[in-house]
Amino acid sequence: MNLSLAEPKLLRAQAFVDGAWIDGEARIDVLNPADSSLVGSVPDLGYREAEGAVDAAYRALTDWRKATGKQRAAILRRWYDLVLVHTDDLARLLTAEQGKPLHEAKAEVVYAASFIEWFAEEAKRVNGDVLAPHAADHRLLVRREPVGVVGAVTPWNFPLAMITRKAAPALAAGCTMVLKPSELTPLSALALAWLADQAGVPAGVFNIVTGQPAPIGDVLTADKRVRKFTFTGSTGVGKMLAARCMSTVKKVSLELGGNAPFIVFDDAKLDDAVEGAIASKFRNSGQTCVCTNRILVQSGVYEAFSRQLAARVRALAVGPGLSTGADQGPLIDERAVAKVESHIEDGVKHGARILTGGRRVPGAGHFFEPTVLVDVSPDALLCREETFGPLAGLVRFQTEDEAINLANATDSGLAAYVYTQSLERSWKVSEALEYGMVGLNTGLISTEVAPFGGVKESGLGREGSRYGIDEYLNLKFVCHQIG
Ligand code: NAD
Repeated sequence: MNLSLAEPKLLRAQAFVDGAWIDGEARIDVLNPADSSLVGSVPDLGYREAEGAVDAAYRALTDWRKATGKQRAAILRRWYDLVLVHTDDLARLLTAEQGKPLHEAKAEVVYAASFIEWFAEEAKRVNGDVLAPHAADHRLLVRREPVGVVGAVTPWNFPLAMITRKAAPALAAGCTMVLKPSELTPLSALALAWLADQAGVPAGVFNIVTGQPAPIGDVLTADKRVRKFTFTGSTGVGKMLAARCMSTVKKVSLELGGNAPFIVFDDAKLDDAVEGAIASKFRNSGQTCVCTNRILVQSGVYEAFSRQLAARVRALAVGPGLSTGADQGPLIDERAVAKVESHIEDGVKHGARILTGGRRVPGAGHFFEPTVLVDVSPDALLCREETFGPLAGLVRFQTEDEAINLANATDSGLAAYVYTQSLERSWKVSEALEYGMVGLNTGLISTEVAPFGGVKESGLGREGSRYGIDEYLNLKFVCHQIG
């Protein structure tokens, strides 16, 4: 495809290590999921280049951690400004390699930038503590120090924001980073690196190694000099990589899969609940980790809610993300389409009915009709695992306790949503939900100012907010006897 950008240098064809653009022997093609056309290609790097990037990050650490928070903040702030200046180009590039509609891609650029702005500000506030001593002749100091070199691995569903949510706090804290983006969406990552370089991020501080996951992952999880490993992606891969990190006892953060319940009580404002479900289920064609996965509806409003939701879903326009008017783009690949199909088939086998959608869209690209299933059994696969696609399955419940039990009956614990007009129920239910994040009468919860993350098998640690920088800091206690 011919992707015309106002700043053509944003489309990179090399990886970025130690402030230099590097090639490899083989290459990986990056395809547009809307029509399988070639968007670009990147080097297929491996063990040797990943080790080289860790060398560079380790060397760069000495000066970067010594810089003042204010100096690091100034550079991050320039990076933030540059990302926003190039919003339109970055959004086009993102849509071309990932598929989401252009308006969603623009929103992601702004969301991604917000983490850089936020942590540029936080860089100046990495304060310690003076503790009340346990003995009169002692003085006790707690310092917050950068962890060191960070290894990061990110997914394809938010090719910019999942990177800045890690890189911005890491760099703000005084850490350096080697990042492996998803092999499906490396071009957004490289555009970010080019802008970081323009902003004055010193060589070796932020490195991007493109290539096959396993060898690069091996280096980032095994090298002793990598002191922190941060991962966003599927639960299975996250668990496996985290286990490897334990051989060198790294600090680990994991942002893994979810299985979000969306609970609609009889006393909910139905119009709001339908709009919330559309936003949280069908954004990014259902490929977000905080995506609604199961819609639990109380029996009194079940029929009305399902009718209204189906009507709204029928009106969603499916098309290439770069075309105007598309509400929903393609899924990332054929495997994703096949998973939605298998969840529908299994749901129907368990007694569900299709109210709208249900089929792949014929022709080029990985498009699937936005789908609503009713009378879904809690035992169906789509209730037990993340669909990661445009499939809304409605489960009926009678009582508040039943809703809470259904919602918690999963190993995941990332996001949950509740629609009710009762203040008492809002508190009671949000406290009973075993989740890291709860949306009350809203289907959109992500913001840089609040802690993002899960409990149970959805992850470890938090990203964004004033808590997010702690993932990249160690506490050092200095005990001083003055007498
Ligand atoms: P994935 O686990 O397949 O891939 C994620 C990253 O891991 C990619 O960069 C991939 O190349 C890499 N990877 C895969 N195997 C590896 C290996 N053996 N060694 C090293 N790296 C390896 O996940 P995905 O399909 O890209 O992303 C979708 C998943 O991510 C969903 O489960 C979604 O819920 C989750 N996710 C979670 C959050 C969150 O914040 N909790 C955010 C976005 C996505």
